[in-house]
Amino acid sequence: MLDLSFETPKPKVIQGAAQDWELVIGLEVHAQVSSNAKLFSGASTTFGAEPNSNVAFVDAAMPGMLPVINEFCVAQAVRTGLGLNAEINLMSAFDRKNYFYPDLPQGYQISQLYHPIVGEGEILVDMGPGVARRVRIERIHLEQDAGKSIHDMDPHMSFVDLNRTGVALMEIVSRPDIRGPEEAAAYVVKLRQILRYLGTCDGNMQNGSLRADVNVSICEPGAYERYQETQDFSHLGTRCEIKNMNSMRFIQAAIEYEARRQIKIVEGGGKVDQETRLYDPDKGETRSMRSKEEAHDYRYFPCPDLLPLEIEQAWVDDIAASLPELPDEKKARFVTDFGITEYDASVLTAEAENAAFFEEVARGRDGKMAANWVINELFGRLKKEDHDITESPMSAAQLGGILDLIAKGDISGKIAKDLFEIVYTEGGDPAGIVEARGMKQVTDTGAIEAAVDQIIADNPAQVEKAKENPKLAGWFVGQVMKATGGKANPKAVNEIVAKKLSS
Ligand code: ADP
Ligand code: MG
Repeated sequence: MLDLSFETPKPKVIQGAAQDWELVIGLEVHAQVSSNAKLFSGASTTFGAEPNSNVAFVDAAMPGMLPVINEFCVAQAVRTGLGLNAEINLMSAFDRKNYFYPDLPQGYQISQLYHPIVGEGEILVDMGPGVARRVRIERIHLEQDAGKSIHDMDPHMSFVDLNRTGVALMEIVSRPDIRGPEEAAAYVVKLRQILRYLGTCDGNMQNGSLRADVNVSICEPGAYERYQETQDFSHLGTRCEIKNMNSMRFIQAAIEYEARRQIKIVEGGGKVDQETRLYDPDKGETRSMRSKEEAHDYRYFPCPDLLPLEIEQAWVDDIAASLPELPDEKKARFVTDFGITEYDASVLTAEAENAAFFEEVARGRDGKMAANWVINELFGRLKKEDHDITESPMSAAQLGGILDLIAKGDISGKIAKDLFEIVYTEGGDPAGIVEARGMKQVTDTGAIEAAVDQIIADNPAQVEKAKENPKLAGWFVGQVMKATGGKANPKAVNEIVAKKLSS
């Protein structure tokens, strides 16, 4: 049995002028579905294509065009739901959300208000070893993305690029279970990690593949617990929604700002207006965009162009059977199988590719040592060049080869670092390199003894001092290592130096 037990963190307390306040946060994350084609058309979803080159007639809302559901996108949403331990709805349906925008040629977005494809699930948000927050997922629905208006290419005109129009999005809605800015960022990190493991969203925040609307309210200590007991929202404060956040850092900063803004209003005797706000990263503040819109403002109604979406349990079961091992299980397994710390296991499982690499290095070897070399040496080295593991010039077999040489006592840890650098920059077989370049450690005690004798003979004054203060033996060890080009087995040198100095 894997141990997935954890402690729940304390909510973040913010000091107001008059009293303490707690934060309540719920996120609506828009995740672009990884799919070559759009939700209702065969047009390509390639990022960065020539503007308006990936637009089917239906995306441009040409008269008489009809949407046709993309089965793969549906499968991706189901896969995501299963990965979040969520209920899958065998019957879901699409609705039109009506509004005007120049980059929305249909005049409505096809979404799923009343019958989403995925129901309740949950995410464990890691807040340090053994500490996690359970955040409930309310629903995931499928919807179309809008196009893009470009206002900064011409001083007098705006342009519209419809490439993104109709691309499939999953809107993943959390319950308001997040209790601080760090938790909100950690929630996005964990969600992104799971989506990337599942292969249902690439999680690229810079390109806008993952963006979050952050709902924030404040309440007095104790109020959230009353909400949890009753699920009655009236125990919570009025929320503001900060739109379209695409950086973990900005999410945190925006929540911090928003909390203080709301505290100031409430402590000043005012009321927080429920509204949609935008975060300005340059000024570090949020500002009002519009007052909160309600579902009826959008005149939602079932999309008459699409039949309700019915899927079969057997199809869902097939998808379930193809799920990969997910981060929580993988992390727990790494701790048990390889005897590494939970912290190291978190680092190693952050990306599925990193985890696979580590496993190949660690299999049949010392797990702790493998973790140490992968994290500190390899990841450290890759980071210097801004590379990720898929761009590593060193394979798992090569790194494993270096570890084998250390384990056999052929090379010392220090020489191993030199060897690592050689293999990393020049490539080649570690054992072959050690052989060819004479890097093997000297374990022959006779040779080491001769070197120690020589240094003792050359430095009588040091010998006298070392006899009084055994700590000075380190100087002799250093000299022997120098004389042998770092190749003497350090353990043997220490022993021989100690023996000779005490005789
Ligand atoms: P709407 O559809 O009007 O946007 P939802 O009920 O779907 O409203 O909630 C949207 C998001 O706001 C959800 O993620 C939810 O968890 C969050 N939320 C709801 N109430 C609060 C609150 N009082 N404080 C913070 N977040 C909240
Ligand atoms: Mg909503």
